[in-house]
Amino acid sequence: IRGTAAIVGRPNVGKSTIFNRLIGERKSIVDDTPGVTRDRIYGTVEWLTQEFRLIDTGGIQIEDQPFAEEINMQVDIAIEEADVIIFVTSAQEGATSDDIAIARKLQKTKKPVIVAVNKSDNEQLQLMQYDFYQLGLGDPMIVSAAHGIGFGDLLDRIIQVM
Ligand code: GDP
Ligand code: MG
Repeated sequence: IRGTAAIVGRPNVGKSTIFNRLIGERKSIVDDTPGVTRDRIYGTVEWLTQEFRLIDTGGIQIEDQPFAEEINMQVDIAIEEADVIIFVTSAQEGATSDDIAIARKLQKTKKPVIVAVNKSDNEQLQLMQYDFYQLGLGDPMIVSAAHGIGFGDLLDRIIQVM
């Protein structure tokens, strides 16, 4: 195992869809507590000759915390546990104020951060990548978990900076 990558980002940008795509067949699990569905948050990714651990911090539920504080704590966990942080955003919305708040926190870590602009489903949406330079975290990468776009490049970059 080469290292650990952690996925962070605000709700609904597609973190779990990306997680499932990266770990392949081993899909989300359902908690056996009645009425509770809990995301599977740990997986292993194999890419070419390499293998790394993946965490979906969006699936870590922190109870009795306001929404912004929950994301804040998920980002702390990612910074603590990961060798590489994958910051997922959405081409459908561009850089939102929540994205900018997460970026400020990530700018303080020395760990490598990859900005993945998900929902880049077509050429029109892919133009939105330029909006994410304002996050100050380097060159954004376009991905579409729905269409399977950009995953080879994303995996190459994860391994390269890990
Ligand atoms: P999370 O809250 O960040 O974990 O987001 P989810 O993985 O649960 O996805 C939120 C919604 O976005 C779901 O309805 C997904 O089907 C949708 N979604 C995920 N990836 C893509 C994508 O690449 N393109 C589009 N159009 N929708 C996506
Ligand atoms: Mg999720």
